[in-house]
Amino acid sequence: MKKQAQIKSALAARLSAASVLSLSALLNLAPPAFAVQAPSSAQVQAAAALQFETEVDAFLADYWRLVPDAAVAAGRFEAAAQLPAPTEARRQALLIFCERWLQRLADLPGRLQAAGKSALTPAQLGDLALLDNHLRAMRWSMTELRSDQWDASESNVADPFAQLLNKPDYAPAGQRLAWIDQRLRQVPAYYQAALKQLKNPSPVHLKLAIDQLEGGLVLFREDIPKAIKQAGLKGEAAASLQRHNAQALRAVLAHIAALKRIDRSLEQSGGGRSFRLGKALFEAKFDYEIQASVDAAGLYQRALADKARLLQRMDELSEQLWPGLFGDAAKPADRFDKIGRVIDKLSERHVAPERFVDEIKSQIPALAAWVTAHDLLSLDPSRPLVVRETPAYMRGVAGASISAPGPLDPKGDTYYNVDPLDKYTPAEAESFLREYNHWMLQVLNIHEAIPGHYVQLLHANKSPSKIKTLFGNGAMVEGWAVYAERMMMESGWGAVDGKPSLEMGLMYAKWNLRVVSNAILDYSVHVLGMSESEALQLLEREAFQSKTEAKEKWHRAQVSSAQLSSYFAGFSEILALREQLKAQRGEAFKLKAFHEEFLSHGSAPVRMVRRLMLEQAAGLRN
Ligand code: ZN
Ligand code: ZN
Repeated sequence: MKKQAQIKSALAARLSAASVLSLSALLNLAPPAFAVQAPSSAQVQAAAALQFETEVDAFLADYWRLVPDAAVAAGRFEAAAQLPAPTEARRQALLIFCERWLQRLADLPGRLQAAGKSALTPAQLGDLALLDNHLRAMRWSMTELRSDQWDASESNVADPFAQLLNKPDYAPAGQRLAWIDQRLRQVPAYYQAALKQLKNPSPVHLKLAIDQLEGGLVLFREDIPKAIKQAGLKGEAAASLQRHNAQALRAVLAHIAALKRIDRSLEQSGGGRSFRLGKALFEAKFDYEIQASVDAAGLYQRALADKARLLQRMDELSEQLWPGLFGDAAKPADRFDKIGRVIDKLSERHVAPERFVDEIKSQIPALAAWVTAHDLLSLDPSRPLVVRETPAYMRGVAGASISAPGPLDPKGDTYYNVDPLDKYTPAEAESFLREYNHWMLQVLNIHEAIPGHYVQLLHANKSPSKIKTLFGNGAMVEGWAVYAERMMMESGWGAVDGKPSLEMGLMYAKWNLRVVSNAILDYSVHVLGMSESEALQLLEREAFQSKTEAKEKWHRAQVSSAQLSSYFAGFSEILALREQLKAQRGEAFKLKAFHEEFLSHGSAPVRMVRRLMLEQAAGLRN
């Protein structure tokens, strides 16, 4: 909140100070002395838009050049051959880059204005605010957080190699392998620098780094040799790749061995940095990444209040469901025991493992029809969602996920990737299916597909902003998907014979409780020093999660920070905005119009969308 206000007032000061002369010079218009007529505001806007695009492109060109990994992930390959080592010199170069662009972008609104008014649209000013935040976050991370000195898992070369291997539509195999060859040569220097940079490693992150490096070995041992063979490379091109691949593999193995030595010595001494961020760093990271209208402590309090409300509701629902499930059997006196028993019993209802993917396929059209019939949002039948089994190289990460076409590919299909369950033993599959039971599977599809992530992406693509696509706000994206669940429940999804389903109500509350617990866990672990047994108590007993899920979540809470909070942050902010607009607009409030207006701003932080929508609402009243 504070940071946003500063940016806003700085922009305002520049807007009033800038002169018409600098504008005409910038826009290549005739100087005022010779001008017979001032340019029309449409001309000024168009010229400003052009100049804005030019600046954004100049920034991105610079950014892609300096951060080739991010470029490759975004589908830009100009610098794909470069693998900069994480040296002190590189840190300095990145800091200079941040300073230079912070200044240059802050000057832009002042240069692009006319008659004391900004020539930039609110959307363009929003893009600038996002870039400003991104650059400040980068600078903060390199000067205050300094995770390069303690998080060994930050140094890993694998992902861009995998991207280059698996994106055949971007460049022919020969070209991609030539980039891979160039990159491979730089791997030894990369890991030497990474080791040197590691000053005070956190043992938890050290173990994560070792696991991930070992997991990535398959790339050098199998994937790259296979790609060389498949491309039919011969002679020097093939020999060079094989030689550099072998060197790279040796460098990774040496790095793993070095990290294991450090890990052993830290185990003996009991030393090393804590995985916990601590209050000051967590709160700053939360502000940069979540960009909410509350600070970290405020969100934590909000989550505690929601948890109490949800448990109250779950208690009532369990009371009502008990006789139908257990007849006269005595209810446990303990609230958590009672709710847990009811959830356990309901979880028996689930699809057969071999029906899992087909069941998801059949639910998507039903969700789409419901959203249309209940006037919640407009969908785009020309851009259908394709449900498919997750491609092999992407499996095992999320279970279910959406793959959207990148900003460079506006006509591509959107995929709903579902991992088939054949990777599981029968017992594991049973446990997974109990979790994604009859009711939960519907909530999952709402979250991932309709009207969750897939619909949000469809709408974001209608007002394409490179900046919001590349530097968009994760809390808004996840918050929307979580809000979509609530929207569907409120519209009566899951009702049986026209009556609200108690079972769906309870399962949805459990799902929502997970989102709330994630936020509580994040803050508790990094700021309040929560122990493992306290975390498992929160997740297993008080949020009804399986032991496996709770243990995985405890691990994730240690190795990530200010990420588990993003779902609840975005969700609670969207809900609050909706309620505020409902109160303000009264009879004129239309749910569908709210959803579409909200989504039209792209993946911007909710507090930014909120400001724009409230300004819009005020404008309508005037
Ligand atoms: Zn079963
Ligand atoms: Zn999601």
